[in-house]
Amino acid sequence: MKILTVVGARPQFIKAAVVSRVVACCDNVKEVIIHTGQHFDKNMSDIFFEEMEIPKPDYNLHINSLSHGAMTGRMLEKIETVIKKEGPDVVVVYGDTNSTIAGALAAKKLHVKVAHVEAGLRSYNMDMPEEINRILTDRISDYLFCPTIASVENLKREGFEQLDNKIFNVGDVMLDAAKFYSKKSSKKSSIISNLDLQEFVLCTIHRAENTDNPKKLQSIFEALNQINKNIKVIVPLHPRTVEKSKNIKVKTDFTIIEPVGYFDIIELLKHCKIVLSDSGGLQKESYFFNKPCITLRNETEWIELTENGFNELAGADTKKILKAFENLINKNIDFNVLLYGDGKAGEKIVNILFSEFSK
Ligand code: UDP
Repeated sequence: MKILTVVGARPQFIKAAVVSRVVACCDNVKEVIIHTGQHFDKNMSDIFFEEMEIPKPDYNLHINSLSHGAMTGRMLEKIETVIKKEGPDVVVVYGDTNSTIAGALAAKKLHVKVAHVEAGLRSYNMDMPEEINRILTDRISDYLFCPTIASVENLKREGFEQLDNKIFNVGDVMLDAAKFYSKKSSKKSSIISNLDLQEFVLCTIHRAENTDNPKKLQSIFEALNQINKNIKVIVPLHPRTVEKSKNIKVKTDFTIIEPVGYFDIIELLKHCKIVLSDSGGLQKESYFFNKPCITLRNETEWIELTENGFNELAGADTKKILKAFENLINKNIDFNVLLYGDGKAGEKIVNILFSEFSK
């Protein structure tokens, strides 16, 4: 079986690393990797390939820093050429970025099977570029690998059971990654001692709905300044947010650092008191490492976290963020509920694909 993997952004490197690690142990499976170039700098790309020991991409498309249409269009054209040349049995795409929809669409038009890892998630907010990408990718995928019960239910509600595809609840590959790499992270990362961290809050911000709206970004920064008066706030800041925050008038008193690698983020998660984030991945990782999370958005795809009280939605509203912080910081939460499978999503995905394509 030949798998063609399309990745391009930070969360996809982590998700693909899980599947690549399983594939590397199978004699009869060959993986070809395309890196679209959507994320390209050291801290957003190379570090994940190094730390997670992902095989070097076979193709580097170097497509980045363009508008959504231009980026997706160029990816589509170049991925099509690679698919024609490589003739894979299946193209595997991850998550909800422009690389995801470009990979899926290029494959589908060439009648090559598409597998979508992290299928069925919905925020029901069509203003989000991610929501558009994930809905369209789901619709043209042949194998829908869902991470949660809620994501399977979403697909059923949308009538996917009547379509020509196969739906599997395999659990979340991010849990596989967290379990595997957290065994190594304390030896590999020295971020806690380097930054001399005792009690601290971890925060990340990168969603367009926050970064592209100066009022919202300013309001989040104001909340972080308030929290930072009592407990240190550490923010590994995404390059997009760094760029956009140049337009923000409010002075930042909290600690901004460059984006960090996966081992560092795991150590920050293990040692922090609480997480504030608009990231999909960080919401789940907070729970993996038994930390409450305040989501800096008005909705979440990971509804089981809010339903179980592990996560509170606060949007970008200073008052709501501070209230959620008060609620969660000293709350005694029992994280002993299994929501994302058993940490073997990668094996399940490869086994299913193998049984489909070795017939
Ligand atoms: N991450 C990291 N370094 C950082 C911030 C995030 O390694 O400085 C990791 C973290 O594991 C997170 C993943 O990158 O779950 C995906 O990140 P991002 O927030 O960019 O994407 P999303 O999950 O929102 O799609």
